[in-house]
Amino acid sequence: MFNKRVKIKELLAKEEANYEATVMGWVRTFRNNQFIALNDGSTNNNLQVVVALGSFDDALLKRLTTGACIKATGEVIASLGKGQKVELKATALEILGDSDAEKFPLQPKKHSLEFLREIAHMRFRTNTFGSVFRVRHSLAYAVHKFFHDKGFIYLHTPIITASDAEGAGEMFRVTTLPVDGTAPKNEDGTTNFKEDFFGRSTNLTVSGQLEGELAAMAFSDIYTFGPTFRAENSNTTRHLAEFWMIEPEVAFNDLEDNMNLAEEFIKYVIRFAIENNKEDLDFLAQRLEEEDKQKPQAERSEMNLREKLDFVVNNDFERLTYTEAIEILKESNHNKKKKFQYLIEGWGTDLQSEHERYLVEKHFKKPVILTNYPKDIKSFYMRMNEDGKTVAAMDILAPGIGEIVGGSQREERLDKLTARMQEMNIPAEELNWYLDTRRFGACPHAGFGLGFERLVQFVTGMGNIRDVIPFPRYPKSAEF
Ligand code: ATP
Ligand code: MN
Repeated sequence: MFNKRVKIKELLAKEEANYEATVMGWVRTFRNNQFIALNDGSTNNNLQVVVALGSFDDALLKRLTTGACIKATGEVIASLGKGQKVELKATALEILGDSDAEKFPLQPKKHSLEFLREIAHMRFRTNTFGSVFRVRHSLAYAVHKFFHDKGFIYLHTPIITASDAEGAGEMFRVTTLPVDGTAPKNEDGTTNFKEDFFGRSTNLTVSGQLEGELAAMAFSDIYTFGPTFRAENSNTTRHLAEFWMIEPEVAFNDLEDNMNLAEEFIKYVIRFAIENNKEDLDFLAQRLEEEDKQKPQAERSEMNLREKLDFVVNNDFERLTYTEAIEILKESNHNKKKKFQYLIEGWGTDLQSEHERYLVEKHFKKPVILTNYPKDIKSFYMRMNEDGKTVAAMDILAPGIGEIVGGSQREERLDKLTARMQEMNIPAEELNWYLDTRRFGACPHAGFGLGFERLVQFVTGMGNIRDVIPFPRYPKSAEF
């Protein structure tokens, strides 16, 4: 057996000395021909491996370059140096993989996030991305734990779908037909998708919700957690073309139950990260503070990352209706002084991200749940309210991020649902399977979608969504 190593995180946490251990990892630095800072990705803290002078060949020492992968065996001893309790006094060193120091793209210095994005295949080996992706892992685990502990079923909804009725965004087409113009055509010149792989036009999914609803009408409580795709040409710090979404769907929940579930869920996963990723969050908080110092006073955050997260888990989210929000925005000095790019003039228009951020960051200074939006700016499946003008929708807005959750109570009344579909020109034949749930044992139900990367952004404080997913896909970029 080759792998009898101990992880550096464990070794450092144990703080015991005087035993033999083997570690493996990547050299971060090699100082004075004596001290290797070794990292294996289990923590940002490097293990100091001490190479006693004269005990190894010069030829071997020359290969201890930044980026090289090594195996080190030796005695764990109490450290004489500052910064660590124990270190490893090497008795055997083996180079597992050389790294040409001249060519290795990561030098032991600070690199910009933009540069690191260009070498995303290597950025895992930096402290920042080490922390980000360990936190991302924890959050993903916490998502499953939260729902599992509540008795939800994890449902795998299809990635390839034929329904384009949901209208959540532009879709990516899936086809095996040739794209050189020789694809079979209908009489009117359009592509004949009957000849395509699935015998119809298909796309990558934008949401698993409609399928989720079908399963909720049997298991009561389900959630999905999978990739979703949107071909929207949004070059923002909050949009990806491929992102992961979590979508619980719960039978017998109304809008208020839905809000309670979403708030409890968000607090739970953040608390999980606080409890399990202290070291990484401290590192990210410090990184953010340094970044903040570069900004003008007025743009600096009032709370550091740890304080912000503590604040969110310890305080109720602010709940108000769309109508109340419009009033606040309309009356705000910001609006009166025409500081919004899109001025708020009246009821009915969709909120832009500048409005959402004003509410969350300037007015309430905490996460906000907005409810009961005008029906015309929301999807067909949202439940019509008594007023006939608004639907039982809810969006959760988070400081620094904007919309993190979009959800609603669903329209379970067949007549109301089909009437709404007709108004919105959504062909009922294509969604017959969906309408069946309203024909056979319909019940009140509600659910929401939470963008996983936006959550990871919020918890890690990373400013750009492209830095919280290992290999981001966005317009003109699908490398690696
Ligand atoms: P936005 O207005 O920010 O584009 P949306 O209204 O299109 O969001 P929904 O269709 O409600 O979003 O999707 C549910 C959740 O998925 C959002 O609240 C958000 O957290 C996330 N989300 C939506 N689009 C993207 C995207 N392109 N990249 C990453 N996350 C996204
Ligand atoms: Mn969108």
